[in-house]
Amino acid sequence: MTDSFIPSVKPLQDAPAGAFWFVFLRQKLLVSMNADTATIPFGEGLDRWGLAGLRQQYLGTLRGFSCHGVEVGDKTPAPPGMAFVALRSLYGILEEGPFKAAMTAMHLVEWNRTSLFCGRCGARTEAAGEERAKKCTECGALSFPRISPAVIVLIERGEQVLLARASRFPESMHSVLAGFVEPGESLEETVSREIKEETGILVEDVRYFGSQPWPFPDSLMVGFTARYASGEIRIDGKEIVEARWFGVDDLPEIPGKISIARKLIDWFIEKHRAAKKISTE
Ligand SMILES: [Zn+2]
Repeated sequence: MTDSFIPSVKPLQDAPAGAFWFVFLRQKLLVSMNADTATIPFGEGLDRWGLAGLRQQYLGTLRGFSCHGVEVGDKTPAPPGMAFVALRSLYGILEEGPFKAAMTAMHLVEWNRTSLFCGRCGARTEAAGEERAKKCTECGALSFPRISPAVIVLIERGEQVLLARASRFPESMHSVLAGFVEPGESLEETVSREIKEETGILVEDVRYFGSQPWPFPDSLMVGFTARYASGEIRIDGKEIVEARWFGVDDLPEIPGKISIARKLIDWFIEKHRAAKKISTE
């Protein structure tokens, strides 16, 4: 049986008894903590833990068992032996399959919570059946889970990388640059515009690196690498408070392993450490 999470709109006909329950209190997920591991509540229904969900939806299967995403009210106490924990902090603590399911659950629970009414006429919406969509009960308009694409870019200049500190980052943490795609833009155009707006420099050789769903609350991060072409670093001091070039041996504090930002920076570190090793051998 596969460990991976398989998303699906329609419940299985002959699902085995028992289900995984992804219960969210805002961005916090209900888990049982045992030493260094966390597990997702598993059972027939939520009532065995004395929980009542505000809204619930089917997510797909994990290890062959049904998965449900549930939203509970802000004042809901965690059942004995369990806790509501920020999803980000469960990276590396939850196993890979349950973590992937939890990321999907968070996105869909938030979508469910924010799409109760039609954006066109204001009437109530309901689940649209076969698709992951909501249908307006009055005008029939369909709406789908919102996914907001954003680019995230690592820029190299010889043996250095451009890292910046955004005003929202914790003191001393630096990362690669990122920004949301605007209507009418290709991803490559977003890369060039964001880098120019945030740092004043021009880049070339923009290459796709990989992507990552980022449900905080609904992004898809699309990673790129690029090379410095021209210009001097100029920052606005508001959104970006510091930006400069770093060598592989003098990196500042960087983001945690969960993010594609970190995967980009690790790619840079590995490449330049390997190059150094060869040149000193
Ligand atoms: Zn409507």
